[in-house]
Amino acid sequence: MSTKVGMISLGCAKNLVDAEIMLGSVLQRGMEITSRADEADVLVINTQRFAKELSNEMPEVDAFVGLDQVSELGAIVEKVVARASSPCLTDKVSVPHDDVDLAFANTRPTYIPNYDTPRFRLTPAHSAYLKIAEGCNHPCSFCVIPQMRGKHRSRTMESVLAEIRGLVSEGVREINLISQDTTYYGMDLWPEKAGPRQPVDSSRGPTLSRLLREIQKIDGEFWVRLLYTHPAHWSDELIETIAECDKVARYIDIPLQHIDESMLQRMRRETSRTHIERLIDKLRDGIAGVALRTTFIVGFPGETDAEFETLLQFIERTRFERLGIFKYSQEQGSRAAKMPNQISTRVKNARYRKAMSIQQKIAHETASEKIGSGLNLLVDQPHIARTEADAPDVDPRVILSRPAPVGEFIQRKITGSRGYDLLA
Ligand code: SF4
Repeated sequence: MSTKVGMISLGCAKNLVDAEIMLGSVLQRGMEITSRADEADVLVINTQRFAKELSNEMPEVDAFVGLDQVSELGAIVEKVVARASSPCLTDKVSVPHDDVDLAFANTRPTYIPNYDTPRFRLTPAHSAYLKIAEGCNHPCSFCVIPQMRGKHRSRTMESVLAEIRGLVSEGVREINLISQDTTYYGMDLWPEKAGPRQPVDSSRGPTLSRLLREIQKIDGEFWVRLLYTHPAHWSDELIETIAECDKVARYIDIPLQHIDESMLQRMRRETSRTHIERLIDKLRDGIAGVALRTTFIVGFPGETDAEFETLLQFIERTRFERLGIFKYSQEQGSRAAKMPNQISTRVKNARYRKAMSIQQKIAHETASEKIGSGLNLLVDQPHIARTEADAPDVDPRVILSRPAPVGEFIQRKITGSRGYDLLA
């Protein structure tokens, strides 16, 4: 009987793609995948934590697998199972070193998937995430991702395009391009090395702009959506490209985290308030009908009432079409975790509620402004669809009064709104 492997994947879409690659390697080794933890012979937890921390907290775990080993999970599971069934070999499997505690805490991963990496997609058949780069070169003080995932490294354009062609030929209608820093795509591949704060310039090598223009040439009916774009690496060329490429959704996810100048500096966001405000104006002027999605953090260490008020005013004035608020969480190993003046949970909760109530009103108004318009929708379930302004899982939906074929584009008139959602 073949080994059954279960997977619990925590975190965002970037983690989900790692989970898909791990499951792909399990299937390649002839094992089975189960969605039921209670029937799994081996249960894999996919999480963004340091191996050293986890191995201290969970000594019962058989193996700790780092980012560089995601495509080798099948072989690792075989090893774990063989050890478990061998009475004289009961040591834990450490990958790749003998000392589990040191396996990943001291290494900077370099792995990046390719178009032919086996993958078992966990998303609906018509929608996929595609990782165009991995790692991050930014120093945000609240974040440990660069320590965990290593330096920014892009896939080649050929690799990304080959994967998109494959997905489109399988019937995928929506491709969500992801990475830690999507707007920096390609710059690490330039023949003449680009500095981390180098302006984007397609004449020097691959860029997101060039990639999108190549994607536009691929035959088929599909959307490509940009997630996790860093405000530091936007260019006029990229804005023009999106405006000219109708396969690129009029949707931009651009996490800003804060707007107060002093907060941006303490967060080490490498972007000023002026830069952000100008960029938002350029995006809205340059891409007709674009929906902007952002996220902010409230309760960062030392955030004063006045700094929080500056953020609220910015949210009210800018009227983001989509917005998420996170309460600051103290990430072990980050600079911010050691900062003085950590904010109490009570204050964080109150700030979260205040920011969300402002956005809720904006979102409801944004939804009702759509009533009467005819929109192109992608059908997720017989009675549920999304517009191009809605990314899967995080954004509103369109509730359909009449069923429609799942995985297809349809045209419908918006007849009403219900909170964040639209009715059609
Ligand atoms: S929050 Fe900052 S450091 Fe963390 S992944 Fe995003 S850009 Fe990189």
